[in-house]
Amino acid sequence: MSEVITGGCLCGAVRYRCTAAPNNVGLCQCERCQRQSGSAFLMATVFARDAVEFERGELKVFAAFDDDGQGLYRHFCPTCGSAVMITLDRYPEIRSIMGGTLDDKSWLKPTYSLWTSSGQPWLVLPPGIRLHPDYPDGAVA
Ligand SMILES: [Zn+2]
Ligand SMILES: [Zn+2]
Repeated sequence: MSEVITGGCLCGAVRYRCTAAPNNVGLCQCERCQRQSGSAFLMATVFARDAVEFERGELKVFAAFDDDGQGLYRHFCPTCGSAVMITLDRYPEIRSIMGGTLDDKSWLKPTYSLWTSSGQPWLVLPPGIRLHPDYPDGAVA
């Protein structure tokens, strides 16, 4: 992993840099993340809020609210549609950057998966990954 982590969307309009290593990397298999990613899971690279700086580009936001009123905000590039970031009322101290948007993805090592209860049945994750059927209590997602 290089000193400064950089990344951006598919079209290049949105670029960001992260000045600290992520707290953790997880895979979310919830129904919403499957829809947004168009795949079996979304790769959340969780950074401290202040460690992420956007250098250029404007993100659009799609907000969804849980039954208890807590919002989850999906930030995406309005030009190419890339999912770039998730922020959550539940965890205001973090920003979850989509792992696939990093320039260098070779060092990413997911350690947990969320919402395995709605996962696709063919998906087999590497041994050692912690599996949570939904949100773990007080977790980092
Ligand atoms: Zn874009
Ligand atoms: Zn999810």
